[in-house]
Amino acid sequence: MALVLVSVFCFQATKASALEAKFEFYYQSIEEVKTINEPIKEDDSLWTKFKKTVKKGTNAVKRLWEKGVTRNIAPGEGEKTWYSEGDKNIAYTVKRTKVTSEAELLSAMGVKSESELNDGQKALLAVFRKSKSQAIADEAKIGYIPTVKVLLSDTTGFDDKSKYPNVTKDFWPYSSGLAINMSSNNYNYPGGDKDAESTLVHEYAHCLDATFKEFKNPYGLDGSHYGNEITGKRAAFVEAWAEYNEMIASEDEAKAILKRSESLCEESKTEAGSYTWNIKQEDCTADQLMRSEAHLAKLLYRLTMETDNGKEKVYKAFTSTRLNVFRDMSTLVKKFIKQNPGDTEVVCKIVDEVFLGKMTDEEFLDYVGKNDVTKAYVENRGKNTEDENAELELDSSTTEVTTSNEKINVENSSGNPFSDD
Ligand SMILES: [Zn+2]
Repeated sequence: MALVLVSVFCFQATKASALEAKFEFYYQSIEEVKTINEPIKEDDSLWTKFKKTVKKGTNAVKRLWEKGVTRNIAPGEGEKTWYSEGDKNIAYTVKRTKVTSEAELLSAMGVKSESELNDGQKALLAVFRKSKSQAIADEAKIGYIPTVKVLLSDTTGFDDKSKYPNVTKDFWPYSSGLAINMSSNNYNYPGGDKDAESTLVHEYAHCLDATFKEFKNPYGLDGSHYGNEITGKRAAFVEAWAEYNEMIASEDEAKAILKRSESLCEESKTEAGSYTWNIKQEDCTADQLMRSEAHLAKLLYRLTMETDNGKEKVYKAFTSTRLNVFRDMSTLVKKFIKQNPGDTEVVCKIVDEVFLGKMTDEEFLDYVGKNDVTKAYVENRGKNTEDENAELELDSSTTEVTTSNEKINVENSSGNPFSDD
């Protein structure tokens, strides 16, 4: 009997933990910017040059460790060093405090009530609250990381770009798969709290995904990406999954992301940060559209909206292809069809419409997989490709959408395929 009771208890405990997202929150504020490497000068003695070189090497190792291990696994409390990516010669001293309640967070921020906070700090508080929302609980059902660390980085006092040019990039929101960083300066404007909440949904979705992006420059030479950028197939899939989760959590985000797909951008293959802007989707090739995160997010969203229990089906296809770490959207679409054969025709129609009918028949079958229904669809293709995407363009007259070229993410350049933002 005792054994049975223990088994029941264990089962329920597992069930409860699967339904509830487990986060460990740390609030950190910048205390100072410090120079960690002195430049090597021509007239330095050989000994001085040697010492400076050794120090540079030691700091490079410490940076790797801090960024790759400490932040993700054991952030710890008290005064800590946060290494800069933008300037390898500087680091920040941050004061970090673990917080388990809103009261503790406010206390760590040094205020008695939230009315004393600036917009960026309010956004950090909103992130803490959002972690207990239904949207996050829904995502957590398919989580596999026992506890995700969330660093709430308060850059207040260091937001003057002329004095601290690297702060924005050095604290830019990202997910490493194990930990999420959110920063106040990215949301320091009225309404920033809503955007920060949506970013949490996005970053947490990355923590549910073990897909390896392309190993070399998944987001292009500048290592960062726009929400309407044409990148790599797997990188686009990874971002689309995160954006899709934002879409199902917020209608405003859904509208914004659908809008983004209309006009794309692509980075030069030879010059970092050099972009071709305002590429109309109609002018893109099928290959470009298949590498557009906005289009892939739209595809997942349409599968959700246009099939019965669509979200459950998308989630199931996502989790059951999880062990294939080299998956892309085609992997998920094929699995979706296998698991829901009755939806095959509607999936074909959605794929064809999202990619504007630009795939060749061969490309199309390769994307959705070959079976009698998909082959029959291809036979009649052309009759089915009238663009019904417009139906999905929700009335945007009442809601402001973000500009299509707004930079929403910066990749941290650790080279870790899980690391993302
Ligand atoms: Zn992302």
